[in-house]
Amino acid sequence: MRFEISKVLDAIEGRVCTDPSLARAVIDLAEVIRYQDIDGGRPASLLRLGMVIDALSRELEEDSVQVYAVVHRALLSDADLTSNERMVVRRWADDGLVEVLDNPGDRMLEVADLLGLPVLSRVRFDGLRGRFPWLVEQPGRVVAPVPGAGGPVFIAHVGGGHSPVAGKRSPTGAKLLARQWRCPESGCALFGGGGGGGAFADLAGGADRSPAAQPPPALRNGVPTCPRHGVRLGDAGPRPRTEVLAVRVGGLVRRRFVLSEEQPIVAGRAPEQDGGIMLGQWLNDEARRWISRGHVRFELRVGEVIVTDVSTNGSGIRPAGSMTESERIPLAPQQSRVLGENDMVELYPGVQIGRAEELPTGAPFTPTSVMAEAPTMAMRLPRP
Ligand SMILES: [Zn+2]
Repeated sequence: MRFEISKVLDAIEGRVCTDPSLARAVIDLAEVIRYQDIDGGRPASLLRLGMVIDALSRELEEDSVQVYAVVHRALLSDADLTSNERMVVRRWADDGLVEVLDNPGDRMLEVADLLGLPVLSRVRFDGLRGRFPWLVEQPGRVVAPVPGAGGPVFIAHVGGGHSPVAGKRSPTGAKLLARQWRCPESGCALFGGGGGGGAFADLAGGADRSPAAQPPPALRNGVPTCPRHGVRLGDAGPRPRTEVLAVRVGGLVRRRFVLSEEQPIVAGRAPEQDGGIMLGQWLNDEARRWISRGHVRFELRVGEVIVTDVSTNGSGIRPAGSMTESERIPLAPQQSRVLGENDMVELYPGVQIGRAEELPTGAPFTPTSVMAEAPTMAMRLPRP
């Protein structure tokens, strides 16, 4: 049982991030873990985060969706969590996967405002609707997770609309995210690399974090501030440009990834390169035989996505809206091409990668549950 829970928590770990390009909604972890009515279990449980993420995945009809979690520091020693759960949250904090704050205040809404993300919350935000008018004006910017037949569902809240809907990054958010920032505290997991380091600085998650993945700074009196340490952030120059790409297999978006100017990314059955995008788990036998370990390489150069075939068997480009095989432009091994705005590269029929916003999802959709490792465990949760 313990082993199964660890596996679920590992799966959930892959679904929390503070990357502005990948997060799809904002949550307050202290709130979500106390949705006791969802499973009738313990007063607090980290597994409820997984259930809410699954609900978001169902709603967005996309696998592997990630959430931006704001975490009150008190949670790291919350006696209602198991010691294992506390340890896991501490690890997420150390790795910068979640944002730990002494006093979260309205940070959750600030993040949602800067990034244009929906908020998953049951809070009414009465005193904050003036400062964040989209709470009321944009339906779906806040939805409340509540118990449903097959796990949590979302209901309309504050501004109406029961489906979580993303907005636009606020002008301030766009400005802040055009720069990279440095925290003077050594080993800062969010704006890392600052200070003199110390013996274990390299082990801190922040140390090797790509500046393209930095979270949005907090604004205190208009000054970019580290939300964790409350100190003014230094401007470390322009942030590398990025492009969000999505993997679609069999008509479903399986995951997104961020391509930045800093380094190319290889996608394939099981790429050997650091940061490679592994597709093997979604492929049938034929596709697995056809697709090379490393099959296509993506580079971002002066705003253009360049795709290079590095496979044995070659690939193809599917221009926007192409339906038939004859419209597929072959991409021979070692050949490169600029990926047009609406193009997708096809590694094998039905295995495609393209810009995330150009990949409409297919229906009907059953996402892979992060709770899948624990089919029996959910049944063992105490019932009221
Ligand atoms: Zn910091």
